[in-house]
Amino acid sequence: MVGAIVTQSTNWHNVERAMANVKQACALSARTMARLRPSVLRRLIRPSGYFTQKAARLKTFSRWYVARYGASPRRMFRTEPWTLRQELLGLPGIGPETADSILLYAGQQPVAVVDAYTRRIFRRHHLAEGDEPYEVIQRFVMDRLPEDPKVFNEFHALLVAVGKSYCHRRDPECDQCPLGEFPHHVEETHA
Ligand code: SF4
Repeated sequence: MVGAIVTQSTNWHNVERAMANVKQACALSARTMARLRPSVLRRLIRPSGYFTQKAARLKTFSRWYVARYGASPRRMFRTEPWTLRQELLGLPGIGPETADSILLYAGQQPVAVVDAYTRRIFRRHHLAEGDEPYEVIQRFVMDRLPEDPKVFNEFHALLVAVGKSYCHRRDPECDQCPLGEFPHHVEETHA
């Protein structure tokens, strides 16, 4: 859950560095993080960028998690997933992608995650315009896959792998890409 917040607007390598600092300081537990001085938390997650905003979000999230669910993942993920999603979206700095990452990756709930890679690959493969509201693309995915967290997890991981390795914003490597055999169209000027 901490990773889902720290990974906002950065790459996983930076997240790993920030998470290593947090672990080394034994500050990964919600109760510890809720008590940690903001300046200390900012220093620990500095490698992830936007560390002031993220530290504030982590503080708010950890306090909420302790107060609402007693820092118990079992209690938290007993909540009906779409109800929990609404609760998460009510917290500052938690948008749909972060909320769904928490539900899917931390809670193994059957909820699809949509990210920039999903939008780009879907747009280039004529599955979406790419700028639809988040929930429209999420529904598109969920209507077509079995309602199984393992499937949503793998699907998202594969899109991230294709996005990172081949489907670059500029100069995508369609010749090498495993999706290259499917109809696609690359518009260089789009993100
Ligand atoms: S075939 Fe090209 S457009 Fe399609 S996912 Fe691969 S790199 Fe992107």
